[in-house]
Amino acid sequence: MYDVIVLGAGPAGANAALEAADNGLKTLLLDEQKVAGGQVWRAKSKSILKAPSTEASEKGDELRTKINQSAIEVKFNSRVWHIEKQDDDTWLMASDAEQLTAKALIIATGSQERIIPTQGWTLPGVIGLGGATVLFKEHMMVPGRRTVVAGNGPLVFLVASEIIRLKGTVAAVVSLNNRIDWLKALPSMLSNPSLAWQGFKWIFKLYKMRVPVFWQHGINKIEGKEKVEGVTVIKVDHNWHKSDQAEQYIPAESVCYGHGLMPAIEATRLAGADHHYDELLGGWVPTIDKYGRTSVSNLYACGDNAGILGVSVAPMRGRMAALAVLEDLTGKKHNKKDLKIFDKAKKIGLAATALSIPRSGLQSFITKDTEVCRCECISRREIEHEIKTGALSPNAVKSGTRCGMGPCGGRYCSESLALITQHISKKTRSEIGLSTARSPLRPVALDDISNEIDYDKLPIPGVSPL
Ligand SMILES: Cc1cc2nc3c(=O)[nH]c(=O)nc-3n(C[C@H](O)[C@H](O)[C@H](O)COP(=O)(O)OP(=O)(O)OC[C@H]3O[C@@H](n4cnc5c(N)ncnc54)[C@H](O)[C@@H]3O)c2cc1C
Repeated sequence: MYDVIVLGAGPAGANAALEAADNGLKTLLLDEQKVAGGQVWRAKSKSILKAPSTEASEKGDELRTKINQSAIEVKFNSRVWHIEKQDDDTWLMASDAEQLTAKALIIATGSQERIIPTQGWTLPGVIGLGGATVLFKEHMMVPGRRTVVAGNGPLVFLVASEIIRLKGTVAAVVSLNNRIDWLKALPSMLSNPSLAWQGFKWIFKLYKMRVPVFWQHGINKIEGKEKVEGVTVIKVDHNWHKSDQAEQYIPAESVCYGHGLMPAIEATRLAGADHHYDELLGGWVPTIDKYGRTSVSNLYACGDNAGILGVSVAPMRGRMAALAVLEDLTGKKHNKKDLKIFDKAKKIGLAATALSIPRSGLQSFITKDTEVCRCECISRREIEHEIKTGALSPNAVKSGTRCGMGPCGGRYCSESLALITQHISKKTRSEIGLSTARSPLRPVALDDISNEIDYDKLPIPGVSPL
């Protein structure tokens, strides 16, 4: 049995594991990826190992070296699909076909993309903004020859500038945020000048390359028969409702599209922790104290899954959660100096997340025929019918339509479903709530979760007496 298992080896989880192991706790660090680094410090694939390093790849290499030199036990390529608390106050996790137990569990599963559908969003050639960063970091590839980058939040500009760095063509940037939204975020971002400078460089690079930037616009339709051929963009009002101004057509081969990040809370929900809705932190978050203690004993959350604050605070949040575990398991006190640094750094994260908060008008992009649940092919029309005939909770819509019952387990469509429900019922997100948390946390193949079976050893019942 471990003292602590850390689920997720991104900047938060890996630093939690380092702090725990440095303090003598028997620590297991686990991730479904091949190596540590998470989303932002993702390792390069073998085919691009010799490519020039970037700041993110260097930070990732540094982290991986520290882990290799530590006493942490690691388990990569390992997908956790079930978590439960056992009677004797230990945690049990199922990772592929193995069961692991620990006295304490730190969940550092990061974030996931928020993608609110528009017409044509399921065409080949459309990928999420976060997904695009995976292509850049792991494979140094661009999504297509001519790409429209659209949505809201800082990832829009990061993705566009990365495409240019990798010699791709950005046909246009379509930003739901306007320049004033960015100016409002500036004072908080300036408390970390290097981050603010980075944001400025992204936008400057686009203007220098004469990339058209459509401020306060959204993609009304992604056009194409078999794959993306172009997009039509439309001006939006302050709440991101589509305006009645004329649309503009932009030819393109691919679209990178997204609406910020949301905390990945399936694991803390399955483990039974209390959650609440906080749009400033990116949506539903586990209710935690400053050190990451959840409402369930010996369960901790750190990193973006505990609220989207970004990579600049993730390592600190990880270390703080590990110190809380240390205190709770051994009684060893630690000094509280981290808290002050954390409060300052948090401001920057909150400013970036503010640019990503979806506004009410975003639901107007989901037309009646637009598929909301891609896994089960459920359109807005079907969802609206269900809501208007009395299904006001996500569970009710799910059982009536199968929305959210496919392989993604509702991770992608739940947000659109909530926006549509909110639009019709005028209820708050807290009132609408979430559907019930269920295993498996991620899709797993039955073959992966069953142990090897020796069929010759299976007991064969005797012939039943006549
Ligand atoms: C797709 C994507 C791309 C992003 N790209 C960038 C970027 O380029 N720049 C930037 O500044 N920010 C980016 N972000 C935001 C960035 O992830 C965070 O700010 C930062 O990495 C947070 O660190 P973290 O440790 O909290 O989470 P993460 O870095 O996301 O780490 C979480 C880890 O948990 C693992 N995990 C989750 N669930 C399971 C499970 N069930 N079983 C096993 N392992 C699991 C994941 O594989 C991952 O390695 C991106 C986010 C996403 C979702």
